[in-house]
Amino acid sequence: MLQLDNVHTAYGSIKALKGVSLHVDQGEIVTVVGANGAGKSTMLRTITGLMRPTEGSITFEGERIDGKPSERIATLGIAMSPEGRRLFPDMSVYENLLMGAYTQRDKTALAQSLDRCYNLFPILKERETQTASTLSGGEQQMAAIARALMSQPRLLLLDEPSLGLAPILVRQVFRLIQEINSQGTTILLVEQNSNMALRIAGRGYVLENGHVVMEDSAAALLKSDVVRASYLGE
Ligand code: ATP
Repeated sequence: MLQLDNVHTAYGSIKALKGVSLHVDQGEIVTVVGANGAGKSTMLRTITGLMRPTEGSITFEGERIDGKPSERIATLGIAMSPEGRRLFPDMSVYENLLMGAYTQRDKTALAQSLDRCYNLFPILKERETQTASTLSGGEQQMAAIARALMSQPRLLLLDEPSLGLAPILVRQVFRLIQEINSQGTTILLVEQNSNMALRIAGRGYVLENGHVVMEDSAAALLKSDVVRASYLGE
């Protein structure tokens, strides 16, 4: 479904991705784990067209998408819930969700997307008219994921959904990610919380300093000495 081949991305002279290759197949949850600054967010920003790779290619469902504008990539069926949630703080929850479906002109499809989000995250229905800035951290994370789902993406990119959440909320958010996946959305999950991410993913990649240094089934990565020592705090 998604294929990155030898992708390089830089901020001026700072090389953030140095030849990343990975793939995500339809129906999978794939996770990319790695420490602060490994290049995880840059990778997602490159997939969504917010940054252009200086080298390499990105293909989505057989179509080259690197270098395409992000609006075009969104309409092909890729949506992202960014790190730090980036909600519109003064807009209501409902308005934030609508922003996720700004390309959707069909009212029936829009209503279906809203229904799906409110079914997945009933708390957002209760908070519908509240401004986003008044939501708790967990609710904001749910709103950010829901906003990304509003465009009915086939591939959902999640950047650190567990960041700043209490453990009980982390478990809840990860359960919801599994639920979204079981409803047919493919997921690429970027996380520093490697333990939880590898527990819900089928496969995983370890990113270090702009390079993929390991790739395997999530179960094998969870058992690997290197991952346990470097990323699971054992
Ligand atoms: P984090 O979890 O802290 O976001 P990350 O794995 O997502 O880490 P990136 O944010 O992708 O890492 O950063 C990769 C590298 O690119 C780092 O060396 C970082 O300092 C650098 N970088 C990120 N954003 C910028 C920017 N706007 N300008 C310059 N360098 C940047």
